This record gives sequence, C-alpha cells and structure tokens, in this order.
Amino acid sequence: MATFVIVGAGLAGAKAAQTLREEGFDGEVVLIGAEEERPYERPPLSKGYLQGRSEREKIFVHPPYWYADQEIDLRLGVTVTGIALDAHEVALDDGSRMSYDKLLITTGASPRTLPGQAYTLRTVADSEALKAGFAAGGRVVIIGAGWIGLESAAAAREAGCEVTVVEPAPTPLHRVLGPELGEVFAHVHRRHGVDLRLGVSAEEVEADGVRLGTGERLPADLVVAGVGAAPNVNLAREAGLEVGDGILTDAALRTSHPDVYAAGDVAESYHPLYGRRLRVEHWANALNGGPAAARSMLGQEVVYDRVPYFYTDQFDLGMEFSGDTRGYDQVVIRGEELEFIAYWLREGRVIAGMNVNVWDVVDDIQRLIRSGGPLPPQD
Ligand SMILES: Cc1cc2nc3c(=O)[nH]c(=O)nc-3n(C[C@H](O)[C@H](O)[C@H](O)COP(=O)(O)OP(=O)(O)OC[C@H]3O[C@@H](n4cnc5c(N)ncnc54)[C@H](O)[C@@H]3O)c2cc1C
Repeated sequence: MATFVIVGAGLAGAKAAQTLREEGFDGEVVLIGAEEERPYERPPLSKGYLQGRSEREKIFVHPPYWYADQEIDLRLGVTVTGIALDAHEVALDDGSRMSYDKLLITTGASPRTLPGQAYTLRTVADSEALKAGFAAGGRVVIIGAGWIGLESAAAAREAGCEVTVVEPAPTPLHRVLGPELGEVFAHVHRRHGVDLRLGVSAEEVEADGVRLGTGERLPADLVVAGVGAAPNVNLAREAGLEVGDGILTDAALRTSHPDVYAAGDVAESYHPLYGRRLRVEHWANALNGGPAAARSMLGQEVVYDRVPYFYTDQFDLGMEFSGDTRGYDQVVIRGEELEFIAYWLREGRVIAGMNVNVWDVVDDIQRLIRSGGPLPPQD
C-alpha cells in the first residue's frame, strides 16, 4: 500500500489530505503538524476571532472526528526534522523515521520577529494573547502597515485602544498596492482614529515603548510586529531541494525531486499566466494549492494557474484583490469614496484589480486579467 506523507498541518495540508481521499486514494495518508491544534484557518485570527466576534470552533478546517473517519493519520505536536530524498524517509522530532512514497511539503511561513518584547500574529495562541492584551486597553504601537499590521490596528481600535502604526514606506501596503490605493487605506485608518506614522522606521522595541528612527519615543503598553513572514524552507533546503524565495516547483507543484511536492505559503510555483514563479502568501492559494498538489501526487495532469486572490476587512472597508501589481504603469478607478473597483494596468493591459465594498465581481475582474488583451482605460 502506498504512503503519502504531508508535512505541515495547516490549510494547504488539510485540504490536500481531503482531496486525496475524495479522489479515491486508498493508501495511507499521514498529516504531520508541529502545532498542537488540528488544522485551522488563519484569516479570522486577525479579524472576527481577534475581535471576539466569532467562535473558536469556527476556525478549524474539519471537525475533530473527520480525520479518523477519513482514515487520515493526523500527528499533532510533531515536527519533521529532516527529509532523506533518496531513502524516501522523513525524520521526526521523537527520533523515529517514516517512509513515504510521495511527500507534500506545506510548512507555511513564520512571522519575522524584532528584537525586544513585541507580539507577532500567526497562530491561534498568538491571536488569543493579543485579544487579551487589547482587552486591557492602553497604548498599542504596531510596527508595519501591511495586512497583518492594519488588521491588528483595526481590531485594537475597536477594542478601545489608542493605536499608532509605524511604517517606513510613504503609504500603507505600498509594496503590494502602490501609493494610489495605499492612500485609501491610510485615509480609512486615520478616519477611525489610528495615528499613522508613515515614512518612519522603528529603531528599537524597548521595555515600555518604541524608539523611532527620528529619535522620538512612542510609549506603549503593547507592541505588535507586523513585519512580514518568511517561508519555512529550511527542511527543504537541507534535504537538497531547489529553493529560491520559497520551495521551487513547476506548474504541477512538483519540486526538484519527482516524488516531492510543495503547496501553500511555502511554495514558489511556476505560474503560466505570468510566465515566472510566484510565491503567494494568501488563504485562497492554500485552499486551492493543497488540492492541486494532491491531484498531482495521484498522477493527474495538473496546471495550477489560479489568479492570486486576497481579501481583507478593516473597519468599514471590505475588499477583494486579484492579480499582481508588479510593473504597473497606470491605475484606473471606477466608483467613488469607499465603493469602487481599482484596476492596475501595464502597457494598457489589466494585471490586477481590487473591489472595495462592491461584491460579486471577482470572476469578471479575473477574466479581464486572464484575457491579457489591451483595454483602453475609458472602457
Ligand atoms: C493572522 C493572519 C491573517 C490572515 N488573513 C488573511 C486574509 O484575510 N486573507 C488571505 O487571503 N490570507 C490571509 N492570511 C494568509 C493565510 O492564512 C495563509 O496564506 C495560509 O495560512 C497558508 O496556509 P499554509 O497551509 O500554506 O501554511 P500555514 O497556515 O502556515 O500552515 C503550515 C503549518 O505547518 C507547520 N509546520 C511547519 N514546519 C513544520 C515541520 N517541520 N514539521 C511539522 N509541521 C510543520 C506549521 O506549524 C503550520 O501549522 C492570514 C495569515 C495570518 C497569519
């Protein structure tokens, strides 16, 4: 009987295990996760769950009994410490080894940290610690105006904290959205009482505050570092798999070893639409990439070419983003105030789109991106 081992029991790993069974695989499926919790989704950790609006049970990918029902051997609190590619074996932190016929790596990413006492937000425990911290009120300083920083800022404000966000770029989300749309997020946060310090870097997290590059000290009861995440590639690199920014795969999510696959945040996969490799750190990529890798492991012909997709909710701004803005030379906005669609164009072609408080348009936006044809801005 064949054994398929999945390393990393997050969304991508759990969805891959589900797909293996749905596609009729009757061999052994082993899903190994370093965390003690069964697989769960992370988006609520910085939104509804952090704000105390959604229940803990709702974050999990499957109910507890599901794994046994599906004969999936879920090993929680177990870390894979090594992969022997030639021997087709993984080493576990309890000193044992396990053989596999095919291996899927879905080890995700870990938050970048800063020296000093700053909270990070990746796990359910992190979210619970932050929720307790916000509930105590007081002054919160958030370092980084990316997705996690801004969502944490919104949650902290809604909990009644005084919130300052420090960001070295000239607008929030500058690298992903550019200045035009970054400005929209700045406006929303300022309108809700967030003190946004842009173009300023945090030099040091001190015991009772943050020292800025300008020399100013921001007193804080709680500091959050929202300074990005790094893919968990060490296991793959040490095993000798090809690694760039993430674990390199082809469009079928196969790594440089034919029996090893990678999906989710950790994978840097060839994307036929863009003609280059992309590493996408978003929920939809774990949700769909895990199953695509599972089908590929089963020998099915897979071309994973979904348009990157992301969503966020901050105060009264709900939005969905599709595509990749890299290299854009024009932004066209249709709509007004906080109800609009923004399109990013490169040489007259739509490469990304974002709908803000406008719904059921993602398929249309993605069709425009996929078509690749020129589109006069007035259209
Ligand atoms: C707070 C937060 C909010 C987010 N909000 C959004 C959002 O609104 N929209 C959106 O599109 N995306 C959002 N994301 C991103 C999204 O959650 C991730 O893209 C998604 O979780 C990636 O899933 P994954 O399965 O690839 O990795 P992960 O969820 O990181 O899971 C990987 C798992 O592998 C385990 N692991 C790592 N190494 C080993 C090892 N050696 N052995 C065993 N286990 C190991 C890890 O402990 C982890 O449990 C958010 C992320 C966070 C942290």
